[in-house]
Amino acid sequence: MPELPEVETIVADLRPHLLGRTIVRCELSFPTIVRHPEPEEFVDEVVGMRIKAVGRRGKYILIALGTSNTGPSGGAPPAASPPPPHEWGGADLMLVVHLGMTGQLRLVDAVAPLANHTHAVFFLDDGRQLRYRDPRRFGRLLLGAEEALLSSKKMPVLGPEPIDPGFAAEELYRRLRKRRAPLKAVLLDQGAVAGVGNIYADESLHRARLRPDRIAGTVSRKSARRLHESLRESLQIAIANRGSSVDTYRDAWGEVGGQQEKLLVYGRAGEPCFTCGRPLSAIRIAGRTTVFCRRCQH
Ligand SMILES: [Zn+2]
Repeated sequence: MPELPEVETIVADLRPHLLGRTIVRCELSFPTIVRHPEPEEFVDEVVGMRIKAVGRRGKYILIALGTSNTGPSGGAPPAASPPPPHEWGGADLMLVVHLGMTGQLRLVDAVAPLANHTHAVFFLDDGRQLRYRDPRRFGRLLLGAEEALLSSKKMPVLGPEPIDPGFAAEELYRRLRKRRAPLKAVLLDQGAVAGVGNIYADESLHRARLRPDRIAGTVSRKSARRLHESLRESLQIAIANRGSSVDTYRDAWGEVGGQQEKLLVYGRAGEPCFTCGRPLSAIRIAGRTTVFCRRCQH
């Protein structure tokens, strides 16, 4: 499942190509991939809209839309960098893409053959197409104002962005302290911290030398600080390596990432720990396979 680094890679790649483009047509071949509003309304509303910003919140891709000749970027060169995630509120209309388990959002030339399981195609005014493909169909597309999507629970309320410079170690400590769940389960909770999934929860707990089944509320301030640092490190390294293609993840150009070969514990149960050489253990936490080193993480 794509997590924060994979979604960030897609968003950063798409941004310069999408900013200022107008969606001239939209075709849905599997309309129920649209969860809000009704598919017909979705198509009606999205067509004719100009892309004003491309960003990310947790594992959600956010594409801010506006009418062609109004709004902050109307006519002027688009801004190079996105607003910080917490300043996203207030976009009149947002196209929200959640990739679910196997979703892929690709920008292609119109002549590119249509891959199977392509459920939505956005035709852009430069002749290119933004295509959403999702074999397992756990992903979703939403359209609406951010506030409306949040209040109608079409989008969950997400915790802070772990790579946001404003996200302090103390904030993570505060969020861990009030929880009786295992550390791993809290990291997976999108309302506690946004964007972390199975891969980077295991990776950051290993880097922090913390057991994944340790009850979050028992973690010391010092350990929370270590986890804060290792969480940001794991995510930043993965972004630098363009994400992990452990499964079906592909970037906006259909290419695999580079982090899957550099993972310390994820997917390596039974293989030797890179630090101590002992075979890595696998347990289940919150229904997810969890890999860690019994010697290095205690
Ligand atoms: Zn070890």
